[in-house]
Amino acid sequence: MTLYIATSNPGKLRDFAAVATPETSILPLPGLNDIAPPLEDQPTFEGNAQLKAIYYSRLAPGAIVLADDSGLEVDALDGAPGVHSARYASDHGFAGTASSTPDERNNLYLLQSLSHTSLESRQARYRCVIAAARDGGILATGEGAVEGQILTVPRGANGFGYDPLFYLLEYGKTMAELDITAKLAFSHRGRAFRALLEALAKTVAIP
Ligand code: IMP
Repeated sequence: MTLYIATSNPGKLRDFAAVATPETSILPLPGLNDIAPPLEDQPTFEGNAQLKAIYYSRLAPGAIVLADDSGLEVDALDGAPGVHSARYASDHGFAGTASSTPDERNNLYLLQSLSHTSLESRQARYRCVIAAARDGGILATGEGAVEGQILTVPRGANGFGYDPLFYLLEYGKTMAELDITAKLAFSHRGRAFRALLEALAKTVAIP
């Protein structure tokens, strides 16, 4: 079975490439960069994942198209940045330094937002919902989450987004200190993908 993933986020593409199996190839949706993205205006990860999967699948007739919506929820910030994770710093007018990347600005702004919060109160989770659609109709969705804690200084060079600040108590490492295989074994995206495949197997005849 071939699944087309509608994302241009290099971090997500790397994660998806690593969860492919001999039976399931995952390819980037052809021509994605030439398609204007839809407005992600839903209040939930599920709503945005479905919206994106429906939108892109209409542009790729007959193909099974996957879209992921994901983000970080921090308890001390009442669940923020949540569905706004990708644009957390810019939404709050935080510019960072001239040479910083959006991920670096988001991490700096997160640290600033939590500067008065003790380590014990920095409980957080990553959530991910992946939706699969064909010709504008949802076929299945899968959800996954992983619990962690937000550190006070970044650690590790792997991963993307908030990974250098997301600490896994049971592994004694941040997500950015894990290799891709370990990350996908228990990460929100790995879990959501496995749940999606299970749900998809019930609705789609796999050749
Ligand atoms: P989306 O493209 O609207 O789903 O935005 C997802 C955002 O959530 C990313 O840009 C990251 O900031 C954050 N995020 C989601 N998944 C991960 C992950 O696996 N590691 C680090 N950050 C993530």
